[in-house]
Parts: sequence; structure tokens; C-alpha cells
Amino acid sequence: MGSVKINNMTKSFGDFTALHEINLDIQEGEFFALLGPSGCGKTTTMRCIAGFEQPTTGQILIGDKEVAKVPANKRNCGMVFQSYALFPHMNVFDNVAYSLNIRELNKSNFFKKLGIYVRILNSKIGKTPKSIEKKVMEILEYVELSKHAHRLTSELSGGQQQRVALARALVMEPAVLLMDEPLSNLDQKLRHSMRNTIRSIQQDLGITTIFVTHDQEEAMSMADRIAVMDQGRIIQIGTPTDLYSNPSTPFIANFVGTSNIFIGEYLGEENGLSTIKFDEVVLRSSHEPKNKSEIHIVIRPEHIRVLEENENVDPQQYSVFEGIVEMSTYLGPTVRYDLKVGNQLMIVDTTYSSGSNIYQEGKSVRLAIENERVLLI
Ligand code: ATP
Repeated sequence: MGSVKINNMTKSFGDFTALHEINLDIQEGEFFALLGPSGCGKTTTMRCIAGFEQPTTGQILIGDKEVAKVPANKRNCGMVFQSYALFPHMNVFDNVAYSLNIRELNKSNFFKKLGIYVRILNSKIGKTPKSIEKKVMEILEYVELSKHAHRLTSELSGGQQQRVALARALVMEPAVLLMDEPLSNLDQKLRHSMRNTIRSIQQDLGITTIFVTHDQEEAMSMADRIAVMDQGRIIQIGTPTDLYSNPSTPFIANFVGTSNIFIGEYLGEENGLSTIKFDEVVLRSSHEPKNKSEIHIVIRPEHIRVLEENENVDPQQYSVFEGIVEMSTYLGPTVRYDLKVGNQLMIVDTTYSSGSNIYQEGKSVRLAIENERVLLI
């Protein structure tokens, strides 16, 4: 019951339209990322799903239920925020148990409510029911925090606090887990390990997860599918490999991974290959441009080869052209070249193995690119 479907959703704030005609079809158990630059509408989309905002037009279905009239606390969505939103004066156990107490409150009669209030206000009055204790300890075990159950959350590291926030969302057994930039307050190393933690918990539980991020590497490494947004619109939806190998617009090519993008001129077609040029560089591509009068040539830096002095490649498969090294940067396993090709700058990433040449500034080199790797959009 954890699928999420959005049909033609728009959202306006006064005169400003933050979301234009959003359509999404997220499958049960899928890890789905909303990716895009700041202000593109990711959080607004998520807040509409959670029920914290009402769409101006359109429809949201969680499972097969239309949720327009369902309040946020009844939508069965767990939320994890960038800021964790934990209670600093409560310990880890009480932070996680709090959500369960609140859920009980919603279901209880007046006298039971009173008892639960007392329990929340002072955890020393009234014992935590065994059922809640068991559930909370199980989930803390799961996120590897059971040893810290009685520590204040303000005494925990950022990564531990984020795991408390995750436990607090998961303990409710939500149909959908919504995560808004949950890793952006963590340092680089912790971010990497939390990515793995979140991904493996998500796969283990098979919980439908919608993850908001502006970090393409994060989205690519975690999500089954990604919707890339820009200025309130979804520009492309696909798997990480789809988006990387077949970006539909120059914006996607630039946003998802690094790209060399040149305005191209179409010269014609021969043997199923398009011939195009930028400046005086002629290339062949096995792709057909959608619009021959307006072509963007997209080349990923790692798809260009820097040929050795006497190295030759099959001219049927590769286009060969010249470039002049402006800068070379040794990065351990790779060398990045900034090259001048015609009047354009081109970035090339080559793998480095001990003994290979690193060409220095001013060196003229021959470059080769396979027909398949010259994308036209
Ligand atoms: P970020 O990555 O910076 O959080 P985002 O992609 O999540 O950005 P949103 O927070 O969804 O972007 O905002 C989308 C647009 O809607 C922005 O231009 C924002 O200023 C505007 N917006 C969001 N909430 C409101 C509001 N309550 N009132 C007016 N404008 C709003």
C-alpha cells in the first residue's frame, strides 16, 4: 500500500507558481529521489505528499487512496528532516517512544489520554508499557543505538542524531518514508556511511522512500529512480544510468555528472551516423539529434581518450581530433586535463596507472571519442 501517485499537481503561493503540472508514479518499495537545485520545488512536492501543504490543483494518491482530505498525521508517512527535529531534553528512548505515545493519544479516550500525557510529561511517572518498550528497543537495535538509549540526544554526534530521527520515523511503521536533505548537516565521511545505512535499511524493510536532495552523487548512489526538477517542473525521470547515459536536456547533462557541452552544427547523415561539428572539429555520432537546427553535443569527460604518440584507433568507430593541454591535474587514480579544442575548453578524465605519461601545459595531443559516446540533444 506504499505506492505514491501524483497527477497534474500544481502549487502556488500567492502569484508565484512553485510547482507546475507535477506527475509522479512511485512504486511500492521504491527508493525515489527528488533532485534539483535550490528553490526548484523539491521540498514543496514532499510537503504536499506529507500533508503539510495543500496542492492548488491536482491529486495525490498514497496506495489507492486520494489523500486531499486526509490530515498529515493520518497519512501514514514518516518524516526525517535535515535538522533532525529531535527533543534535546529527552533521551534517545523517549524521543523514539514519543511518536508511539502520540499515535496512541490520537486513538484514545479521555482517561487514557490523561495517562499518556502524564507518561510523556514525566517518564518516571507510570511505566512505559511493555509493548512500546519492546518496539522502541527493537528499532534502536536496528539502527545500532540501543547502547545509547538513555543518553540525551544533545549528547550524540550528528550521525547518531540522524539515526535517532530515522528510528523515530521507522518505529511508526509508515507506508512511506519521506526524507528531506537528511544528510546535508553531516560531514563528508559520515554522509557516505549514512548513505549505506539508509539504503540498506530501506532495502531490508522494503519501505517506499522519497528522498529530497540537491546532491547528484547522493541521488545517484542511493536511488532506484530519480526525478530531476528545475524551476517547479520535472525535467526527466529515470534510473541513475538512464539519466547519466541519456540526459534529455543540457540542464540534465550538466546537473547529473560532469559534461562537456558544445553547440553543434549538423552536417548530414552517412551509414547511420550523424556528422556534426563544433568550431572546426568534426565528429560522428551514432545518435540522431531530435532537432537538427539546434544541437547540443554532450561528451562525458571519461569518454574521451588521450592517444599515445603512435597509437591509432579504428576510424569507423572513433572520431579523432586535436587539443592543447591547458592544465593537467593528477588525482591519484585519474588525471584530469583541461584542454583547448578549437576555441572551446574541454575536460578529459583519464585513468592513471604507474608509468603512464602525464602531458603538461602547451602539449598538443590527439583525442579520440567513440561514435556511441557522442550524445546529441
Ligand atoms: P532547497 O533545496 O533550497 O530547499 P527546494 O527545491 O526544496 O529548495 P522549495 O522549498 O520547494 O525548493 O521552494 C520552491 C519555491 O517555492 C521557492 O522559490 C520558494 O521560495 C517558494 N516557496 C516555498 N514555500 C513558500 C511559502 N510558504 N511561501 C512562498 N513561497 C514559498
